[in-house]
Amino acid sequence: MTKISKNDKELKKIKDEVLNCKKCQLYKTRNYPVIGEGSHQAEIMLVGEAPGANEDKTGHPFCGTAGKILDELLEAANLKREEIYITNVVKCRPPGNRNPKEEEIKACSSCLDRQIGIIKPKVICPLGNYSTNYLLRKLGLADKIQPIGKIHGRVFDTKALSNLVKIIPFYHPAAAAYNINMKEVLKKDFEILRKLKNIK
Ligand code: URA
Ligand code: SF4
Repeated sequence: MTKISKNDKELKKIKDEVLNCKKCQLYKTRNYPVIGEGSHQAEIMLVGEAPGANEDKTGHPFCGTAGKILDELLEAANLKREEIYITNVVKCRPPGNRNPKEEEIKACSSCLDRQIGIIKPKVICPLGNYSTNYLLRKLGLADKIQPIGKIHGRVFDTKALSNLVKIIPFYHPAAAAYNINMKEVLKKDFEILRKLKNIK
């Protein structure tokens, strides 16, 4: 089997599982889970927090206000959604857009771990505190955990996976919704991705 069809098949299996998942209480209030979208061979993976109202209505990641900002950031970094993979730590919407609870992250995160294991990205970018904390801890960098305001845009190398992976935390795009300065900070941080892409 080619790598492409193997990845498609394994990701489809995750999709089917998530569609029927009842591992935490969020299944009761969700409309559609947001599994993830983009290239199944992506070198760059973005990991948000959890779906919001628009994402819950459609099943697509980052398709509301935060998604519009993310599209601007991707354009500035010369990246297309089709060439990267976008998902979240928690696949179902927390009601009223509350923060995900620890037990929900615990119940759901094995799905993200498997997505990472299948796609094998070279660069993983957590967006915001929740995914940053989860991924740094999971990938052997717990000692690097600090608030996102301190570590956004920094590059951490991890050897916890089968290949060398760079973790680059960013602010969550929603943080720029009402803060123009934040968008400039995010754009500057996303420049790193443009540079990494140009090196290859
Ligand atoms: N915020 C997130 O963290 N993820 C989405 O998919 C949408 C908004
Ligand atoms: Fe399952 Fe994750 Fe949805 Fe909870 S949030 S029901 S663990 S898919």
